[in-house]
Formats: sequence, C-alpha cells, structure tokens
Amino acid sequence: MSDCIFCKIINGEFGTKFVYENEWAVVFKDINPKAETHLLVVPRTHVESLNELDDEVLLGKLMMTVKDVTKKEGIKSYRTVINTGKDAGQEVFHLHIHILSGRIK
Ligand code: AMP
Ligand code: ZN
Repeated sequence: MSDCIFCKIINGEFGTKFVYENEWAVVFKDINPKAETHLLVVPRTHVESLNELDDEVLLGKLMMTVKDVTKKEGIKSYRTVINTGKDAGQEVFHLHIHILSGRIK
C-alpha cells in the first residue's frame, strides 16, 4: 500500500535496519521504545489489522518469527502485544506484533 509507513519500511525507503527477516516478515526496532528492548514483527504483505487477517498460516509464521528472532537476539523473557483498532491504541494500520522485553519505559 503506497501511503503505508510500514510498507515503505519493508520496501527499504527509509533505510531501516532489519534485526531479522524471513520470507514472511521483517523485524525492526520500534522508533519510540516502550521497553529496554522493543521490536516490531511486520508481515511483508499489507493487512490493516488482526481484524482483516484471514490467513491463519501467516499468523503462525509471524508467531514463529517472534520465537526465532528472540532466540537469535538472546531474549529469553518477553511480552507480545497486538494492538487492534484505534481505541486499543493502534496507530499504524499495517498488522504488527510488538515484542517487549526488559525494563518498561
Ligand atoms: P501501534 O500503536 O500498535 O500501531 O504501534 C505502532 C508502533 O510503530 C509505535 O510503537 C511506533 O513507535 C512505531 N513506529 C512508528 N513509526 C515507526 C518507524 N518509522 N520506525 C519504527 N517504528 C515506528
Ligand atoms: Zn502496509
């Protein structure tokens, strides 16, 4: 989607460094971290939110990506968050999973 900030990041338009990537997703650091470690797992395909997702295989791949990137980064304890909808605090309408670890900011 042309005006989606996460699609632009995926397309390399901002030169964002990926902590991890695979066939289904990219992972990068949140620009405004709310914990000592705050990563975002973002699917390569544009889906507005969990409410619009109809691909359970992709959802599984995204959760396995959480497991793989935390293992690679040596993050043993963490929280995952998916904000869905404006009233729940979703700001970027491209599905993403927050990974939060360490001291909360
Ligand atoms: P949410 O509120 O669940 O939609 O989360 C969106 C997250 O994206 C927020 O935590 C923002 O800090 C983060 N964010 C917005 N723009 C960027 C960016 N250019 N690079 C990295 N993270 C971003
Ligand atoms: Zn997008």
